[in-house]
Amino acid sequence: MRILVLNSGSSSVKYALFEFKNKKSKKICNGIVDEIGSNKSNIIFNSKNKKIAKKAKIGSHEEAIKKAFELIVKFAPGKIDAVGHRVVHGGELKKSKIVEKSEEKIIEKYEEFAPLHNPYNLLGIKICKKLVDVPQIAVFDTAFHSTLPPKAFFYAIPYEQYSKFGIRRYGFHGTSHKYVSKKAAEILQRPLSKLNLITLHLGNGASVTAVKNGKSIDTSMGFSPLEGLIMGTRSGDLDPAVVLYLIEREKMSVEEVNRYLNEKSGLFGVSGISNDMRKILSAKKTNKRAELAFEMFCYRAKKYIGAYYAALGRVDAIVFTAGIGENAPEVREKICGGLGNLGIELDKKKNKKIKEGVISRRSSKVKILVIKTDEEKEIAEETYSIMKNGGNGE
Ligand code: ADP
Repeated sequence: MRILVLNSGSSSVKYALFEFKNKKSKKICNGIVDEIGSNKSNIIFNSKNKKIAKKAKIGSHEEAIKKAFELIVKFAPGKIDAVGHRVVHGGELKKSKIVEKSEEKIIEKYEEFAPLHNPYNLLGIKICKKLVDVPQIAVFDTAFHSTLPPKAFFYAIPYEQYSKFGIRRYGFHGTSHKYVSKKAAEILQRPLSKLNLITLHLGNGASVTAVKNGKSIDTSMGFSPLEGLIMGTRSGDLDPAVVLYLIEREKMSVEEVNRYLNEKSGLFGVSGISNDMRKILSAKKTNKRAELAFEMFCYRAKKYIGAYYAALGRVDAIVFTAGIGENAPEVREKICGGLGNLGIELDKKKNKKIKEGVISRRSSKVKILVIKTDEEKEIAEETYSIMKNGGNGE
């Protein structure tokens, strides 16, 4: 079975083709068409035997997706059996779905909560429907967190806001948290259904999830991706009174506050240098604000580990993933430092050397793992499971 994975974003379309033999998958090719709407869009295609990187005018998402199909037909020919789509917000949907009219309506409904993602995700689905007559399956970033209990997903504001508008915590990055949880079970050679994990997805966007017996029971992102950890340009947790004060004192509009907290805060806002952890790390020896940004980033993550340790009661492993989690030993060392009393003991040598696997000491009660996330693969696996189960996922 050949499954195409499509991530249709606001200005780019990423694609990857997987071939499944039984449950084992192999990536046949992948690529991206970005800067949609410009004269110089990058068109990238990669397979074992063919590499393409060129620039061309791509005026719309439809052109971009047609271009991806054209390259696949030419350089990786064969039937496509299903398309798995990344969709950021699925509201309270519990699992991946074949997209019929009612699912389109749900994705549309949550455009209001994910305006930078859902409209483009849905556009990708509609375009693919026209191009290939196969099941189009939506895999939601929110679905893995649908197991959060009410005590974790409600905000302590008047209850009507939930029933009226759906204001609650949804959580994001679910596809990544799920993928690394499955992979952790493989590495630890234990069934996921018996594992308690704290998974830290530390990229430009960052979130942490408490996984109990394989299910998400709490996560740091909430109603939007703004809550929780400090991120590249997002503030993470903040006293809501700060927003009120800014509106009053700086006369900021809703739009301005939105940009302030989502695009000008986080590592970038604190350091004044960059949202990129690599630049923060190299600047922090001589730049006090870069050092502060680094300290704050790690301290916030450490506090969440403590909170989720308490929520889980027993933790089998802590997992680091995504750009920073996978590539910044210094950040992992700082986050795990001083947690020996919780049975969390990092092996400093392994931490520096190992690219994927266990980086804790033998004596550490809680294992510490680095795992490369692969959201495309997870979307392909979800899609495969839906196809094999006649429209129902796991
Ligand atoms: P996104 O959330 O955009 O998918 P990624 O998971 O790709 O982000 O992570 C991007 C971030 O990873 C970059 O902003 C950078 O700070 C960080 N990063 C990548 N490589 C390294 C590295 N070698 N050391 C430290 N940080 C890194």
